[in-house]
Amino acid sequence: MASRPDLNTADESRFLISDLCGMLESYLDKEQVQEVYRAYLFGAEAHEGQQRLSGEPYIYHPIAAARILAELHLDHKSIIAAILHDVIEDTPIAKEQIESAFGADVAELVDGVSKLTQIEFESQAEAQAENFRKMILAMVRDIRVILVKLADRLHNMRTLGVMRPDKRRRIARETLDIYAPIANRLGINALRVELEDLGFAALYPLRYKVLEKAVLAARGHRKEVLNKINTAIKRRIEQEHLPARVLSREKHLYSLYRKIRDKALSFEEIYDVYAFRIIVKDVDACYRALGIMHNLYKPVPGKFKDYIAIPKANGYQSLHSILFGPYGVPLEVQIRTEDMNKVAESGVAAHWVYKANEERLDQMHAGAREWMRELLEMQTRAGDSLEFLENVKVDLFPDAVYVFTPAGEIMKLPYGATVIDFAYAVHTDVGNTCIDAKVNRQVVPLRTVLHNGQTVEIVTAVGACPSPAWLNFVVTAKARSNIRHYQKSLKREEAIELGRRMLDRALGVFEVTAADISEKRLQVLLQDYHLSTLDDLLVEVGMGRRPSVLVARALVPSEAADSKGDDMTMRPLVIKGTEGMVMRFSKCCRPIPGDPVIGIITGGRGLMIHSQNCRNITDNKYPKENQLDVQWEPGIDEEFPVEVSVIVEDRRGVLARVATVIGDADSNIENVGIEERDGLTNKLQFTITVHNRQHLARVMRRVRNIPSVIKITRTRS
Ligand code: MN
Repeated sequence: MASRPDLNTADESRFLISDLCGMLESYLDKEQVQEVYRAYLFGAEAHEGQQRLSGEPYIYHPIAAARILAELHLDHKSIIAAILHDVIEDTPIAKEQIESAFGADVAELVDGVSKLTQIEFESQAEAQAENFRKMILAMVRDIRVILVKLADRLHNMRTLGVMRPDKRRRIARETLDIYAPIANRLGINALRVELEDLGFAALYPLRYKVLEKAVLAARGHRKEVLNKINTAIKRRIEQEHLPARVLSREKHLYSLYRKIRDKALSFEEIYDVYAFRIIVKDVDACYRALGIMHNLYKPVPGKFKDYIAIPKANGYQSLHSILFGPYGVPLEVQIRTEDMNKVAESGVAAHWVYKANEERLDQMHAGAREWMRELLEMQTRAGDSLEFLENVKVDLFPDAVYVFTPAGEIMKLPYGATVIDFAYAVHTDVGNTCIDAKVNRQVVPLRTVLHNGQTVEIVTAVGACPSPAWLNFVVTAKARSNIRHYQKSLKREEAIELGRRMLDRALGVFEVTAADISEKRLQVLLQDYHLSTLDDLLVEVGMGRRPSVLVARALVPSEAADSKGDDMTMRPLVIKGTEGMVMRFSKCCRPIPGDPVIGIITGGRGLMIHSQNCRNITDNKYPKENQLDVQWEPGIDEEFPVEVSVIVEDRRGVLARVATVIGDADSNIENVGIEERDGLTNKLQFTITVHNRQHLARVMRRVRNIPSVIKITRTRS
């Protein structure tokens, strides 16, 4: 640990960072470059003592990743995130520390990259690769997270040589299957080409060498022809007084390889194509240049493509044509404007290109989203490429989640799907006999909603059967119909038997047995429920029409429970199926209609309603037997207290203004506290009453519109 400071590596890392800052100075403000330097000091300290496999200090790697993004002229927050991208994953530094040092945006970016780093791709199947790509895209809310991840991957690929061969191959395959296609989807050609060539070289070193040698040999013969054509094109364009840049270009090795492999053509057939790019001022000039080229060399029929009128899925625009060149060689030309050329090189990244004194960053982000939306529309108008539509929908409107089975297979489920939906998606039998579940190796309640990238494991038991209560939270048709089917197929005797078992278990919660229930009490309950026999009641329970815990609660002598506590409220019609229960709404999370809720049976206090995401629930504070799936009655007209905190500028009259606006939105203020924050802003803590979530949203929107209000959030203690 206490190693002697090595002057050489210290000098080297100082050189790397000053080189990076030098690049950044060409397009960022001075203060922003200083921020980047501060991030370097922060990162270098965090990674202090860590080394890469090559023996270099670890900080070299994040600086190099940042440099890749600097070449794309990305904004300073992306650069800082790149410098800190491994800090959460590999050092004791937490997201909160990054947030307080560099702000919420940077912290979110670094956190997003860490989450991507945590998921690992195992499968080799093509369909799985596609799902994995979608999962990655669905996981990020800010596309810059992907840009940082791509830069990270690119630098890892550049330094792959030090890895063990098997590891090298795995990373190379992942790069070709996952990351290069994502770079392609986002139109970031510069990164894609390098990722592909490095991936190709690492995965198929022999083929790479053979092809590289063939290209070197062929290049010699080509030179003369190439120069001749180049001169001819330039001369003709000058004659027509069309300002243009003419570039000759070569296909990168991986794309040559893919063509040879997929089209079963020989190297000569692929390689003996001369390719030129003509870059002009505007769209009109593109079509003029095309005319000039078709006049100079005859076009090959059927080979003209107008990607200006109908852009490619990733936004790429250009005119493509193949011509009969001199000596009968085929000649490929691409014609585009400077802007189109920029998009072709950096794609979506072009939207984070830093421009001095321009709009704020979230507007840039909005710009990139807008770009994708435009693409979507263009494609819809063009009427083709359903697949593209499908793909972009995943990015813009994530309506699916992707999770792993313990074997590393990816399952696609609709948004909001729970553990039970997953179990049924795996197999009907797995769903039917599911008793427990683990998400990322932690035991969770069966109603747990799944998120992208999680690994889900289902525990089944022979003889277990689906609970009708699951119908309250499953979202897939498969789960729903299977649970229903199971219920219907129950014969009366079976339903009675199942009902008896469920009721016995529920009575256990209250520490009584069936023998303790008085006949009188049972008769009262049967009358309340309009049932005639105990068996009828057991059928109701077994078929899931009445929650067993509620029935048990109603049967248990509860003098002690009912007389206890003065803060208990009777809310008979607020939660479905809880007639006659004593019910309380927990003060820790203050659920309101619209929030997903859960009931907790508490020994002396009846039923306590919590939000499903309340800390007390997610921390599994209550045993599973005491939990009851409940739902709000539709159309409740009561008022519920809820906490909101409002951060306002420290100005006279702000509190009064906020209070008035809350009142005007038909909400009552039950309590208010002021918490001084600093000289500039105050934090106000309100307890207000609302009817439901929509009402709360309306109140919050109005408060947010007050000019001195900086932020309003719903808070839970
Ligand atoms: Mn990294």
